[in-house]
Amino acid sequence: MSLTLTVDGDRWRAHLRSVADANPGLVPVIKGNGYGFTRGRLARKAQWLGVDTIAVGTYNELEHVASRFDGSLLVLTPWRPFGVALEVDPALADRVVHTIGRVEDLEGLLSHQPDARLVLERMTSMQRHGFSARELWAAASTLQRFPRARLEGVALHLPLEQGSHLAEVGRLMNDVVAAELETRTIWVSHLTDAELTALRTSYADYTVRPRTGTQLWLGDRGALHVTATVMDVHDLERGDAFGYRARTAPKSGHLLIVSGGTAHGIGLEAPQGASSIKARAATLARGGLDAVGFVRSPFSTDGKQRLFAEPPHMQASMLFLPAGARVPVIGEQIEVRVRYTATTFDRVVVS
Ligand SMILES: *Cc1c(COP(=O)(O)O)cnc(C)c1O
Repeated sequence: MSLTLTVDGDRWRAHLRSVADANPGLVPVIKGNGYGFTRGRLARKAQWLGVDTIAVGTYNELEHVASRFDGSLLVLTPWRPFGVALEVDPALADRVVHTIGRVEDLEGLLSHQPDARLVLERMTSMQRHGFSARELWAAASTLQRFPRARLEGVALHLPLEQGSHLAEVGRLMNDVVAAELETRTIWVSHLTDAELTALRTSYADYTVRPRTGTQLWLGDRGALHVTATVMDVHDLERGDAFGYRARTAPKSGHLLIVSGGTAHGIGLEAPQGASSIKARAATLARGGLDAVGFVRSPFSTDGKQRLFAEPPHMQASMLFLPAGARVPVIGEQIEVRVRYTATTFDRVVVS
């Protein structure tokens, strides 16, 4: 019936606990599709972990977590003087920590809410949002005019796994120190454990707070298992027509109809490995099925990745099973490989 994420609860919780124990000041990031688990479930898990702050991606996401977690709510998208940033539920005003990346937004937020809680984002090599060194300094002087403002730190959003971040972080920390802000908290993303340790050692008077999503929620893939249900199986003779476009079967075998389609985020897989022209020519020469236009799917049976018989439908997919392969029975669960951050599961079952 369903595309299901099954979670080995003991193992997953042990992993979450170990990440939290190893990272004092951890800020779980809960955004988007909730890394496949849903945002609400992760908010409850953050409550269980006992952290004091979680981060959401956008202002729109506050409502998905606010009633399930009772601590502070950092919004990662920077505040702007328009849209939902101005419509925060007054009941949450004291729990929300805003991210500010422009001097005019600092003035705008504090004019709107003089006692707002905020972090100043320093631009990194990501080049997404944030202050330059000079602007950070200007922000520090602007803050002097708003004595009720609650500055909660400086944020650094670093790129993913670009070798060592330490040289860049060192340069950025110099700017932070030079700005003489009244805070000793640094919120960071995407630093390795070793980099965090080095940062804490070099800036022992600062509190370093890692904002972590993937490594926390999805860091132990062995605790996670994704399956789809076989909904139907049909014999297919060479030349039989099937599917929305009435294409004909190039070989005999079986058609499997399984749960999981575009609505879940199931997409066509980029051909892997065999994408070079040479490999493709070799497949053509062998008369392989991808040579006749069948594309690899993320579904597998008996450990073998299967081909889509046609592009995925909204909630189901048609797979081609070549003659000779064991034919699964209706109701059987088969394996699916997914990108967790881009998949909407019908069910999440935590044991
Ligand atoms: C999404 C996000 C994170 C968390 O990223 P992961 O790779 O999932 O750990 C941290 N900081 C910012 C600003 C983000 O947008």
